[in-house]
Amino acid sequence: KLENATIKAELGRASWKLLHTMMARFPDKPTEDDSLALKTYMQLFSRLYPCGDCARHFQGLLKKYPPQVSSRNAAAGWACFMHNQVNERLHKPLFDCNNIGDFYDCGCGDEDKDKDK
Ligand code: FAD
Repeated sequence: KLENATIKAELGRASWKLLHTMMARFPDKPTEDDSLALKTYMQLFSRLYPCGDCARHFQGLLKKYPPQVSSRNAAAGWACFMHNQVNERLHKPLFDCNNIGDFYDCGCGDEDKDKDK
């Protein structure tokens, strides 16, 4: 099948949105099990990501820059950095990771027990 860049980009946007929103909800003080879950999730995500070239490249990035899973800030900063690595490769503008704080909101409306506000 021919590559369809529009569909591929849509998949990318949806995936990044989910990833960054997950990081924004990751515990400030994760348990070992939380941290292992995120590490495992990222490994499996990079393995199963439907765009094969993207997946291969992202697996390489993961080896070079292992997931930071010690806190919400660490995880969100790491994911932002990883996305910027991909942005750079695709010649897209870089995102200022200092502004990631409230950018990704799950809209869940439920109490975030891990957030002290
Ligand atoms: P996207 O890069 O999809 O970003 C969406 C929005 O996220 C932006 O508009 C901005 O508001 C915000 N954002 C941008 N940078 C950051 C950041 N660093 N941190 C937080 N938020 C940010 N496409 C390819 O063609 N080749 C590839 O090899 C490839 N690899 C990919 C690997 C992965 C793991 C993923 C998830 C996607 C990959 N993609 C790849 C898709 C590509 O990254 C884009 O998603 C797609 O090209 C659409 O780009 P976009 O300009 O709409 O913005």
